Amino acid sequence: MGLLSVRRVVDVDKSFLDLGEPGSEPWCLTFSNTIGGRNSSSPSDRFQTLQDLRTWLSRQGILQDDASSIDDPKNLERGIRLREAIYNIGSAVAAKRLPEDDDLSELNWNVQRAIVSARLTIEGDKIAWDLSSQRGSVAGCLGLIALSAAGLFTSSRATKIRECGNHECGWLFLDLSKNHSRKWCDMSDCGNLAKARRYYAKQKALRAAAT
Ligand SMILES: [Zn+2]
Repeated sequence: MGLLSVRRVVDVDKSFLDLGEPGSEPWCLTFSNTIGGRNSSSPSDRFQTLQDLRTWLSRQGILQDDASSIDDPKNLERGIRLREAIYNIGSAVAAKRLPEDDDLSELNWNVQRAIVSARLTIEGDKIAWDLSSQRGSVAGCLGLIALSAAGLFTSSRATKIRECGNHECGWLFLDLSKNHSRKWCDMSDCGNLAKARRYYAKQKALRAAAT
């Protein structure tokens, strides 16, 4: 019998633009998850004011701490529109559907503005992207999130995008589990809720059968 040589396939799929974001939780997905209970009757949106958006961007390490505090109030609306487009596209990809043109147009609008501002620079002995100018304003940071989404949706990691099994939740995540079986955004949250619901449904069925 011939000897089979088994080679490990290394995932070399890197975005052409390294944003320095966490590989397991790209900015665009974390951004999409800034609404709790998105598909429930009482969703809670973290972004009520432009300052909420600024604070979130800063805590994620996207917005520079010394960023100018002057920002066009329209950026809140722009951020929310971008977030909804990212969610709609991610949700479609997770369900193996094609996204709507309107959502792609919304993302494109943001991607194109970000690309215009992107620059190359010399860093030590290498040529690198210089995104520092983007990190100084909310508008620039929204551009970086759009690039994060463009990078994710066009890479092989797109096949790993999932939407939480708790329909009301609507959070998106990457299923990086070995057997591709992750169902919940968070086992201790939506996972337990589903377990509890199954338990009560079973108890109800047992009670119904006993009467
Ligand atoms: Zn969830």
